[in-house]
Amino acid sequence: MTRRSKPATVQVLRTLSAMRTWTARARGKGETVALVPTMGALHAGHLALVRLAKRRADRVIVSIFVNPAQFAPNEDFSSYPRTWDADAAALSELSVDAIWAPSVATMYPDGFATKLVPGGPALAGLEDKFRPHFFGGVCTVVAKLLLQVAPDFATFGEKDYQQLKVVTAMARDLDIPTKIVGLPTVREKDGLAMSSRNAYLSANERAAAPTLHRVLKQCAAGLKAGQSLAATLDEGTAQIESVGFAVDYLEARHAETLAKIATLADGPARLLVAAKLGRTRLIDNIGV
Ligand code: AMP
Repeated sequence: MTRRSKPATVQVLRTLSAMRTWTARARGKGETVALVPTMGALHAGHLALVRLAKRRADRVIVSIFVNPAQFAPNEDFSSYPRTWDADAAALSELSVDAIWAPSVATMYPDGFATKLVPGGPALAGLEDKFRPHFFGGVCTVVAKLLLQVAPDFATFGEKDYQQLKVVTAMARDLDIPTKIVGLPTVREKDGLAMSSRNAYLSANERAAAPTLHRVLKQCAAGLKAGQSLAATLDEGTAQIESVGFAVDYLEARHAETLAKIATLADGPARLLVAAKLGRTRLIDNIGV
């Protein structure tokens, strides 16, 4: 007998007025609200963010919006995985209260002409160097989501470490009264950071992909044992490249400011990596 997934019971809100009615009702009852922003194609990492939100808030709303503003024309906006039925079923299973699923026209109606230009951690020379459009698009959509839902807090993954720092700075700088809560990266058993983009990997690429995390751990151990930063990162880059990755960066940065560091003494340090395996670009990071 095949097991059928439970029908989705979570409430789906598609218009601003429906969403505002929902949040007003929660506020009217004095309930706290948490927002979990996602682009869908949900995996265990997203669901960990949802569980964290559920533990700390009376009501949890998950947004699912594949944000065109954070993809460059040559990137994967049109092919980005969209798995609505499975996402709704998983969120129903977790008893999420609502999904905020605006259309592109609801988010960016005709005449939309305002974009945030983040500085500070958004100009650290990491993701921004390779995806210059990215953090402007992320900040604009996250600011809109936070203003639309006005949650008490919103959860973000450390998997996208620079993004977590950028969004935290943006909420602080714009006096948005939502607390930004980070959650450690959820990984596959072999260490690969869970990502919606892992679905793009061929079997051979999937077998090579855990090298990213393995090398990060190895570099962190070497640095703690007193190896020099430059030699450790050079060796790590060579190892990642040896399994077929093209490395965009492997860097050690200050964990809070993302400023460059010369030695571990300039820390707390974070190792961050981005690399392409075939057509799939993966990112990862760990603390040292
Ligand atoms: P995305 O749908 O990929 O834009 O991600 C939505 C949120 O989930 C972001 O805050 C991500 O940082 C977070 N996230 C994605 N993958 C993971 C993971 N493996 N562990 C923890 N959080 C994650």
